[in-house]
Amino acid sequence: METAKCLIIGSGPAGYTAAIYASRANLAPILYEGTQPGGQLTITTEIENFPGYPDGIDGFEMMDQLRRQAKRFGTDIRQGMITSIDLSKRPFIATIDDGAAIIAADSVIIATGASARYLGLDDETRFRGRGVSACATCDGFFYRGKTVAVVGGGDTACEEATYLSNLAAKVYMIVRKDHLRASKVMQERVFGTPNIEVLFNTNTVGLFGTDGVEGAHLVRHKGTPQEEPLDIAIDGFFLAIGHKPNTEFLNGQVELDNAGYIVTRDGSQATSVDGVFAAGDVADPVYRQAITAAGMGCKAALDVEKFLLANGH
Ligand code: NDP
Repeated sequence: METAKCLIIGSGPAGYTAAIYASRANLAPILYEGTQPGGQLTITTEIENFPGYPDGIDGFEMMDQLRRQAKRFGTDIRQGMITSIDLSKRPFIATIDDGAAIIAADSVIIATGASARYLGLDDETRFRGRGVSACATCDGFFYRGKTVAVVGGGDTACEEATYLSNLAAKVYMIVRKDHLRASKVMQERVFGTPNIEVLFNTNTVGLFGTDGVEGAHLVRHKGTPQEEPLDIAIDGFFLAIGHKPNTEFLNGQVELDNAGYIVTRDGSQATSVDGVFAAGDVADPVYRQAITAAGMGCKAALDVEKFLLANGH
């Protein structure tokens, strides 16, 4: 069986930064990239707030640079998914792609990020790929000159709505509260864009259409005396209501909080299992930024180094 001193699972800013530090510490890390090499940032638009890029940088390009930096110091970067892992044994036993390979690892860094949330409507499944999307930068192109809706009131929703407003003729934002949660600068961009209409106090209850999405059934002021139904005609329905941490493969072996994020301890990246560390969005219900993910990746690699030394590896 193949062995590794440090196995890194995930390839966003957290995973790659952990890899840079672990490989520079001679830990010869093996990193599995998962289904979306580079993670969520590869499908975002320009990153404007990562220090060191005064003119902004394309998300895909930034992840490519981090990947190359990790490779330069010797990280063994591989394609594939860790489909299960046994954390009850030492070394830990990781199964790749349902048994295609098995690795025995002395330490593990979990940096698997988070995936887009859906509302949970049957119609979302029915129209997935036929008008329903959770990635404006991936699918926005198909809606040139059309009408779309973006659900959510956070930074992601504002970013997606602004991006889509450059392609689509009209963009609705469907916001369940009476205000946006997004940062002021993002809100100002939305309110300053004439073809974005924000529908506050509005919930989506269904989608309609024959072969693809043709419209959405909405309810305004749900659960109040002012409650009223409203249908809008749209061609595309984009979800931007946050993300769900990717922890299924852990099968409950690591402590999670109520929202499903990995709990880290004592100001470090240590999890409830000795030798297992977590970094990035999978362990961060609060900040969820590229820069904080990278910082956590660095901390996790330093924690691994200390753990391996203390345990005689
Ligand atoms: P957020 O959790 O910040 O926002 C989610 C939004 O979706 C909220 O408006 C929330 O409403 C709404 N929502 C959640 N569930 C539902 C539901 N079931 N029905 C309707 N609406 C729902 O997620 P984001 O992805 O926007 O942002 C995550 C983090 O990433 C944040 O920290 C953000 O600042 C950061 N980010 C930063 C960017 C940047 O700076 N360039 C770009 C994108 C993200 P409610 O407010 O009512 O809870």
